[in-house]
Amino acid sequence: MTHEVAVVPGDGIGREVVPAAVDVLATVDAPIEFVHAEAGDETKAEQGVALPEETRETVADADATLFGAAGETAADVILPLRSVVGSYANVRPVCAYPGTDARAPETDLAFVRENTEGVYSGIESELTDGVRTLTRVVTAAASKAIADFGFEYADTNGYEQVTVAHKANVMRETDGLFLDIVEDVAEQRGAAYDTALMDALAMELVMQPEAYGVVICPNLAGDVLSDLAAGLVGGLGLLPSANIGDENALFEPVHGTAPTIAGDGVANPAATILSAALLLEHIGYESDAQRVREAVEGVLAEGPRTPDLGGTASTAMVRDAVVDRLS
Ligand code: ATP
Ligand code: MG
Repeated sequence: MTHEVAVVPGDGIGREVVPAAVDVLATVDAPIEFVHAEAGDETKAEQGVALPEETRETVADADATLFGAAGETAADVILPLRSVVGSYANVRPVCAYPGTDARAPETDLAFVRENTEGVYSGIESELTDGVRTLTRVVTAAASKAIADFGFEYADTNGYEQVTVAHKANVMRETDGLFLDIVEDVAEQRGAAYDTALMDALAMELVMQPEAYGVVICPNLAGDVLSDLAAGLVGGLGLLPSANIGDENALFEPVHGTAPTIAGDGVANPAATILSAALLLEHIGYESDAQRVREAVEGVLAEGPRTPDLGGTASTAMVRDAVVDRLS
């Protein structure tokens, strides 16, 4: 069965790293048909909208999407796209690779972040001049979905440690519900877990990241803590992410358009190629996904490397080196 993958490079280095990742996907056994679609600043300049209806439909109809980055229009592109795929879980694996000069070389963890509510519910208002409010929404349904996904992810990926981040001592109602639900799910599955206050966890992650496996987080905590952890393994050029929905999913590097290097042909394609590996895993090609990951690891360890990792190689040279290891 052929899988349809929507390819949306977007802007900036997205236009360089996404094609490189597509070339890598084209060399593995998984039967994939690519459907290209446009979104972002350039699309807005040309068509008047950052996210054309046609792109929405392409993404909705595909089995999965590989996305790059969008510039100024990011909020008009990625937020709607995440909702087109019905994404309730954002997954960010954070792994240190040999050869990348990571601050914490033992790091191997994954954030599983609630992706639909919390303080990102979008419900804000101005009460009176100079006084504004934000409504933090937490539902039992979304909390259960993220807990189910997080424990399942830990099992599938061999993580023994599951940590639940929260601040239920202060946000008693909202995080209280979140924590209750996650604890219920853990109990029903017979799964072991720890809980951690999100502020203390920020410190612990810096002090001993190797002690953590899967970290299940409310939306804002997951956003902040996963960027913090990115700093432990050498930055943005290496980190993939997945937005998981029930019947659809979107994969993207954690980094953005990197305008300072866009167009130079030197962006590190590793984050996007690793996102493509997550995509392969999601559509059922675990062994291909593993081969791609190992090829990237090999190239990171032995080179060629792009300038962000201290090398002099181009995006194309890194892509070719990954493809060579796969063929
Ligand atoms: P945006 O607003 O689109 O997020 P940004 O200026 O925040 O753009 P990011 O893409 O988030 O840029 O990256 C921040 C910096 O990290 C970049 O300027 C670049 O130096 C570096 N960087 C990020 N991704 C990569 C990559 N794939 N390869 C090399 N360097 C990168
Ligand atoms: Mg950025």
